[in-house]
Amino acid sequence: MDENIKMLAQKTADGVARKVKKSYVTDFYRFGNTVGLGADGTATKFVDKLAEDVALNIINKSKVKVNVLSEEAGFIDKGGKYTFVLDPLDGTRNAYRGIPFYSVSIGVGKKRISDVEYGIVKNIPTGDVYTAEKGFGAFLNGKHFCVPEVPDKELLSSLALGKNSDKVTLKFAKRDKVRSLGSSSLELCMVAIGGLDYFIVGKEYLRVIDIAASTLILRQAGGFVTNISGEDFDMPFNLEERTSVVAACNMDLIKKIIF
Ligand code: MG
Ligand code: MG
Ligand code: MG
Repeated sequence: MDENIKMLAQKTADGVARKVKKSYVTDFYRFGNTVGLGADGTATKFVDKLAEDVALNIINKSKVKVNVLSEEAGFIDKGGKYTFVLDPLDGTRNAYRGIPFYSVSIGVGKKRISDVEYGIVKNIPTGDVYTAEKGFGAFLNGKHFCVPEVPDKELLSSLALGKNSDKVTLKFAKRDKVRSLGSSSLELCMVAIGGLDYFIVGKEYLRVIDIAASTLILRQAGGFVTNISGEDFDMPFNLEERTSVVAACNMDLIKKIIF
């Protein structure tokens, strides 16, 4: 992929992270204010708008021509060959509750998740950057990494619990060690580095913007992502379609979860 496109994605992620961190100091108590309705049909919070405005500003000013599909603004056609599938802030609730686990996520592809060629997820509070390019592996802060070959002896999962849980997920809520971390882009990256052994979202509620980048990152690290039926899912670049997700370092573990 064109270096300029990758650099623009990195610059965009850095710009969003810098702005959100800075605003955390001055505007934290406004982060959770509802300021509108996103193109995806969910509420836009102050911090979502702040993050998206910075991202779109950087992309608009750039000479590199890319389209954008973003949570709040929807699809912006610039006649580019590639589209930035952008979640300006993934883990909004964590951000406005002061729970330090949220990201900016950008997947770069043409039409669907399976053709995403580059992905970047930046953990805003820690500054950790996960990237992957199709065919070239996955990187944490520029250092190549792979999923662990075998899961930890004491399995640790992150599960979508509460009103977003389902039967399969609830079964696993009583097993192993469990977290429910609330930012799917980062949860997939955590599976990629072996921080989590598996991650389940049983209900179909994840959108392509949430997982376009991190699906590539996990797959490039050697891990697996399917839907709750165990199918390798694919999704077109739109805000309507939703999916469930099961992610793990190997297929055996996914099969154990599903069957
Ligand atoms: Mg939203
Ligand atoms: Mg978001
Ligand atoms: Mg999100």
